Amino acid sequence: MTDGDMTSADTPRIAIIGAGPAGIRAAETLVEAGLRVTLIDEAALPGGQIYRQPPPTLRRPAKALYGFEAGKAEALHSSFARLRSAIDYRPETLVWGARDNRLLLSSRAGNTEIAFDKLILATGAMDRIAPVAGWTQPGVYSLGGAQVVLKHQACLIGKRPIFAGTGPLLYLIAWQYLRAGSRPAAVLDTGSFAGQLRALPRLARQPRTLLKGLYFTAALRAKGIPVLYSALPARIDARDDNLVLTYTRNGRSHEIAGDAVALGSGLKPETQLAEILGCAFDFHSPSRSYLPRCDRMGRSSLATTYIAGDTGGIRGADAAEAGGALAALAVLEDLGRSVPEVRKRQLLTHMRRAEIFRSGLELAFAYPAPAIAGLADDTVLCRCENVTIGDLRAAIPQWNITEMNRLKAITRCGMGRCQGRVCGSAAMEVLASETHAPIESVGRLRGQIPLKPVVGSNFETKAAS
Ligand SMILES: Cc1cc2nc3c(=O)[nH]c(=O)nc-3n(C[C@H](O)[C@H](O)[C@H](O)COP(=O)(O)OP(=O)(O)OC[C@H]3O[C@@H](n4cnc5c(N)ncnc54)[C@H](O)[C@@H]3O)c2cc1C
Repeated sequence: MTDGDMTSADTPRIAIIGAGPAGIRAAETLVEAGLRVTLIDEAALPGGQIYRQPPPTLRRPAKALYGFEAGKAEALHSSFARLRSAIDYRPETLVWGARDNRLLLSSRAGNTEIAFDKLILATGAMDRIAPVAGWTQPGVYSLGGAQVVLKHQACLIGKRPIFAGTGPLLYLIAWQYLRAGSRPAAVLDTGSFAGQLRALPRLARQPRTLLKGLYFTAALRAKGIPVLYSALPARIDARDDNLVLTYTRNGRSHEIAGDAVALGSGLKPETQLAEILGCAFDFHSPSRSYLPRCDRMGRSSLATTYIAGDTGGIRGADAAEAGGALAALAVLEDLGRSVPEVRKRQLLTHMRRAEIFRSGLELAFAYPAPAIAGLADDTVLCRCENVTIGDLRAAIPQWNITEMNRLKAITRCGMGRCQGRVCGSAAMEVLASETHAPIESVGRLRGQIPLKPVVGSNFETKAAS
């Protein structure tokens, strides 16, 4: 017998993966309805990405950790504290795969599996990387990684880091570094100022969030930090004790030196579990990516599986909270329970507004697809397997490759420890540009078990052994 097998039709086994804003609000809604849930997260403490908590020895006041979002962080953490005794909470537990209606778990206690009747995927997002020659050398971090270092470990990646890429986090994290005593060398946005202006009417649907973004830029500029638009990173070289980032802007090449580089071009949803479970996906043109198909409340194409928060598309933390509660209401409806209709309508209205805001973000901070197509052959694309863009460019015509999984089989791009989570987006761009095909026609890397490296002696589950 495995965990979770003791059940009856009256007590459905509900699992939620992810104890971020979406997962916690989903759990809260289900507990309020009298159900017991299992909430699993690979992190040691609840909060997810935005409301990540440092270890107790590095605890700091909420204002210092979360800035303008301190109130929301405290509210979410308090909600979790109230829930804690009513749920089966499994921290430091990685869900590394799924088969049938079972989740494969790995934790310090070993490997095990649990069965579920209903599953809410609230697995959030990760950095979306646009590679550049030299991005794999020491001193170069992902943007989100730079923030994790600061929030979780109270460290800086450098005293003069360069922030490059695009997206709202670019400005937020540069500002967080400034506040923490670092002096960013520059903020280089691959997006254009015109694009950001065009997006303003949509971004104005969440005026508070828009104002915060404008504030971060103004605060950086007020301290003399260069903030440049349409700046396309070309390569990063180590020179003396510096990292020198070469970028092009308005057709001219420039260099800037710093002691570290943080790179990130937005976020990409963590959708591998939805993929492994067999959820249907659709191509989402604005983000140039495939996303799990779901209805307004988060029902996927599978009757057992629901999608909440960033897993279904990047809409931010407030929408993640609303989406988590909505997915829980969908579970309740599908179990034949009554749901509070007024609350449901309020949440749906919130999500509609968030959807418009999201389309504004995608307009303002587009993934730099043309820049990737133009990268030098020696740029490493898949760092796990050390595959360069030149390797792909040689293999594609030689093997007449038109589809991502064939590209992976022949070049090993996306076959390493990260299972293509880091290189997948850029590899799609390279294949599409080399074959002159629309991006949606090249497909996506299929999710594989184990979806993340598993710590432990083997992948055998207790049930199987
Ligand atoms: C590195 C990073 C930093 C960010 N910082 C900010 C910020 O400062 N401000 C902001 O507005 N937005 C930030 N975001 C965006 C942020 O993702 C959303 O605003 C919000 O946190 C989304 O909530 P969520 O509940 O959907 O997902 P998340 O908050 O991402 O929570 C998902 C949770 O799922 C867990 N998980 C994922 N996969 C597994 C698995 N296989 N097994 C077990 N557990 C799993 C993760 O550990 C995580 O705790 C950040 C995103 C990233 C990736």
